[in-house]
Amino acid sequence: MPEAMVAARASDTAPKSAQQVDVAVVGAGFAGLYLLHRLRKAGFSTVALEEAGDVGGTWYWNRYPGARCDIQTIDYSYTFDPELDTAWTWSEKYATQPEILRYLGFVADRYDLRRDIRFKTKVTEARWDEAAERWQLTTDNGAPVSCRHYIMATGCLSAPKPPEIDGVKDFKGKVYFTGRWPHEGVDLAGKRVAVIGTGSSAIQSIPLIAEQAAHLTVFQRTPNFALPAGNGPAPEDRRTFFESDRAAYREQARQSMAGVPYPQQTVVSWQLSDAERRERFERAWAAGDLVHILTQLWADQAVDVDGNKIVQDLIREKIRAAVRDPETAAALTPHDHPFGAKRPCLDTNYYATYNRPNVTLVNLRQEPIKTITASGISTNGRNVDVDVIVFATGFDAMTGAIRAVHPITGRGGKSLTDVWAHGPQTYLGLTVEGFPNFFMITGPGSPSVLSNMAVSIEQHVDWVVDRLKALRDAGFTTIEPTEMAQAGWNRHMADCSMLTLHRLANTWYTGANVPGKVHGLMPYTGGVGPYRSICDEVTSRGMLGFKLTGPGGAAQCNDGEVVRLQPDVRLVLNLLATLNLPPIESMGAAGARAFVGEFNKGRPAGRLIGDIVDGTLPGADGPLPYRVFKPATPGPHPVVVYFHGGGWVLGDEQSDEPFCRDMVRRTGMMFVSVGYRHAPEHRFPTAAEDGYAATRWIAEHATELGGKPGPVLVAGWSAGGNIAAVTCQLARDRGGPEIAGQLLICPVTDCTFDRPSYNDNATGYFLTRSLMYWFWDLYCSPADRTDPRVSPLRGKVDKLPRAFVATCEFDPLRDEGVAYAEAMAAAGVPVEQLKAHGHFHSSFTMVDVVITGVAGRVQMAEALRRFAGLPPEVSRGDDHSQGHTSPGHKIAAAAS
Ligand code: NAP
Repeated sequence: MPEAMVAARASDTAPKSAQQVDVAVVGAGFAGLYLLHRLRKAGFSTVALEEAGDVGGTWYWNRYPGARCDIQTIDYSYTFDPELDTAWTWSEKYATQPEILRYLGFVADRYDLRRDIRFKTKVTEARWDEAAERWQLTTDNGAPVSCRHYIMATGCLSAPKPPEIDGVKDFKGKVYFTGRWPHEGVDLAGKRVAVIGTGSSAIQSIPLIAEQAAHLTVFQRTPNFALPAGNGPAPEDRRTFFESDRAAYREQARQSMAGVPYPQQTVVSWQLSDAERRERFERAWAAGDLVHILTQLWADQAVDVDGNKIVQDLIREKIRAAVRDPETAAALTPHDHPFGAKRPCLDTNYYATYNRPNVTLVNLRQEPIKTITASGISTNGRNVDVDVIVFATGFDAMTGAIRAVHPITGRGGKSLTDVWAHGPQTYLGLTVEGFPNFFMITGPGSPSVLSNMAVSIEQHVDWVVDRLKALRDAGFTTIEPTEMAQAGWNRHMADCSMLTLHRLANTWYTGANVPGKVHGLMPYTGGVGPYRSICDEVTSRGMLGFKLTGPGGAAQCNDGEVVRLQPDVRLVLNLLATLNLPPIESMGAAGARAFVGEFNKGRPAGRLIGDIVDGTLPGADGPLPYRVFKPATPGPHPVVVYFHGGGWVLGDEQSDEPFCRDMVRRTGMMFVSVGYRHAPEHRFPTAAEDGYAATRWIAEHATELGGKPGPVLVAGWSAGGNIAAVTCQLARDRGGPEIAGQLLICPVTDCTFDRPSYNDNATGYFLTRSLMYWFWDLYCSPADRTDPRVSPLRGKVDKLPRAFVATCEFDPLRDEGVAYAEAMAAAGVPVEQLKAHGHFHSSFTMVDVVITGVAGRVQMAEALRRFAGLPPEVSRGDDHSQGHTSPGHKIAAAAS
């Protein structure tokens, strides 16, 4: 019997004493209802406290004209009960607010949930009672509540933002908020109406208000991207997929990035022709589906400013075509944020509404609102008299409903408001250190608003209730995340925020819409499927990062950080693990080369640059192939001699082509990639001598190659980093050529294998210790290994060119790279180091796959330009970037 049952019964007769339950839930929307159902089934006594008069949450309050879902309702449904799934059929592709509210009422009735909901009851305070190990809640209506666990199912957009405009109280007409629309509706017929705001709520309501009102004036501060919803019956293809295998459909949604069953796009924008891109865009536009257009155009649309700019331009064309007055069209056209970085809106006739004679747009960027007066709205340019003002000004999103609604006091009297003073801190977006037995459903730090909420809510509720059951079964009474786990999650959140372009827009996702609110991306951008797997990993690793305690001093704490890898590195490594590949060293040199060749065939070569020219140069013992990568800008450009990776055994002058192209774009410099000879056919010191000879020849023939005469730079990755480092030492000792700087990326520098990174990262991160042993064995006999031409750390490291050394945390070669950088610095060489956290050996060369590697390559490019004496600014002149790359590149660099 639940511990609280006796007390709960007692409270029936003593209404003023606290209601005792195992779990109290705040909110009876999508999340609260499912929580009640699951908690009850799991045998917990429960109460939900709901401010509204009935179930529905956001769908209870947001009753403004035109309110609809912006995720297809076939996807915006509960999936936990297949019978429920078949018992309800949506009438439209995007159901209206009344229909969604009916659905939630239907769910509440079907599972008899209302009997555990206290409506019209607001929690006014929540305090953790350390002695009792319970939360004590006070309410504004009826008995206080004492509960073991406290769960916020308060929604992400439920605390309306104050209008922040002077004079509202002076207005003599009617004032309405879209987020608190009167239940009886509002008759706007014949009225002069003002709508302030042009977010989703405004964009949905404006066309309908315009149809009723005598005149509608829209006050717009920032234009938004809006797409036609194309509402009607659910699309045939989706219905067919859904009906054919509901379970598979739902499962695909759960594992997807956004909670809607769409595949991951793999083709990047620059692999498509203009016509192909337009064709994809038109299809997406016609589909009328936010998730489709946000995810299905091309793989780089949400992660790269250039890939995104193409979509923006195509949408701007649509706006110009829809709005007759060019000035109004221009004002409605967004220019200040990447598409998708701010939530785009789904509309029905939104842009066309501005062609109506009874609609006026006021551009607040040109004429800000001065004040609201008794008769209307006064801007810098005019006074607009109105009968009604509709505030569609949005919400204090994500944290507002949790933090601002009532004081929450945790262990040691800590207030959640204080703990979150610099932005929300959570573990998994579900829990907060210092607040035992406190959970948030779709809280900040979880995918929440960047996902189909229905899918995310179910995942959260299932995870929380399953944990509470397990806790109870194991005899524990409290659960709380550790400081280390929470700090790790916050760092992972910051890493994830570099994946997408959300950080480049001022939005409610970042708190920028609320004056004084701390800025920072609040939802998790790593995707729904990956997030789910992380939550499951926490469980499978013994509740990693949680402290559990129970009676009699029982305690369990498996402390740690659940994700230390960069989010995309984690995905790549997980994918490689599922391929179950044989170790490369078991393939033999020929087999390994064939494998790498096949592997490389599947990847895009890289973005357009200027010319790519192949040639041969005279090496130490005969011709060596090379490939020149030139910028698209007029030359001559400084020359970087590049050495590819591959353990002196694999690869060639083309194998790091995506990296070379990317660096050419970022540096505006010419890269000459050298095809040095390989082991085991050509053992030590062939690669080193080839590298040196090639550098000498390239320096002497820079002009001929189209480069700038004068000192060259050298760069290399892995074994190529080794050759670049060795080349610098040989050039110093053999009288040239002059080298202006060296870029060493994860270089091999020493034959000692007992540094910690060789053990910490021996397996699991693609480059393994045994693969390195194999490379060494093929290239170099034990007797030769201490020769500085293969172990430059054992050579003299003074008087070398300026260096930039990049090392990766999860790389066996990490520590020898760091040791080389430190040794050079100690010897007086100017050295810059990048110690890339969460990255693995291939992070920087997997261009377009490891997106978080961009920041490192930006730093490398900046260093090379400094070494070459160039200004920091890069001009890029390739066609793909015409007219927009400079700002785009600047944004990427700034963001990194
Ligand atoms: P919103 O997107 O935050 O839009 C608020 C609008 O009000 C913005 O245009 C904002 O301009 C403007 N604004 C705020 N304060 C202002 C001020 N003092 N003066 C002038 N303008 C001001 O809020 P929302 O439209 O309610 O939508 C919020 C989110 O709710 C949506 O993004 C969506 O996720 C969800 N939603 C979904 C649907 C749906 O289709 N299912 C419908 C409604 C809402 P700035 O941009 O310059 O701040």
